[in-house]
Amino acid sequence: MPGTPRAGIIPVTPFQQNCTLIWDEASKVGAVVDPGGDLDRIEAAIREQGITIEKILLTHGHIDHAGGAAELRERLAVPIEGPHQADRFLLDSLPETGAGYGLPGARAVTPDRWLDEGDAVTVGELAFDILHAPGHSPGSVVFISRDARFALVGDVVFKGSVGRTDLPGGNHDQLIRAIKEKVLPLGDDIAFIPGHGPTSTLGEERLTNPFLQD
Ligand SMILES: [Zn+2]
Ligand SMILES: [Zn+2]
Repeated sequence: MPGTPRAGIIPVTPFQQNCTLIWDEASKVGAVVDPGGDLDRIEAAIREQGITIEKILLTHGHIDHAGGAAELRERLAVPIEGPHQADRFLLDSLPETGAGYGLPGARAVTPDRWLDEGDAVTVGELAFDILHAPGHSPGSVVFISRDARFALVGDVVFKGSVGRTDLPGGNHDQLIRAIKEKVLPLGDDIAFIPGHGPTSTLGEERLTNPFLQD
């Protein structure tokens, strides 16, 4: 019997990145997705919800998503899973990237587990399948709960937009292909939390997202 997911969004860093707490309602066991920074606020939200964090998940290696992951792993003593190892170069260079963006304190991080297409990730009783969806970054992954009809998509697709592809390793055609060939076929009814901005459904994006028409 699959668990029932609950989620809470904590916008973090000057990029207003949607750090997401996802947890299993019955067990109150959860994960922190993309702790880019503002760790005190993330920890306050964890306490407020009364949940036990068992792991950190990363959708990709950009600083607004991964800049706080190394420190949060130490604070919570939990493992980090994701992204795909094609983002290793981004995770290795987080201190330099942080300095460039005026975000001191970002630390390089190596996940405890790299993820790849077809892998499975559990959070309490929740089960997520992994899609490798490169284009925004080479190692971007999507976490999809087929039971709960719910996905965490990072910066792959947004409500009304798609991820930028002008950063190192970005490729617009590859991104659009990944969205159209891998993500949208998961089903119109899938609700998703993107890395920035409001939530949406895959059906709404299939029909109205200007980057996904034709
Ligand atoms: Zn990004
Ligand atoms: Zn982002």
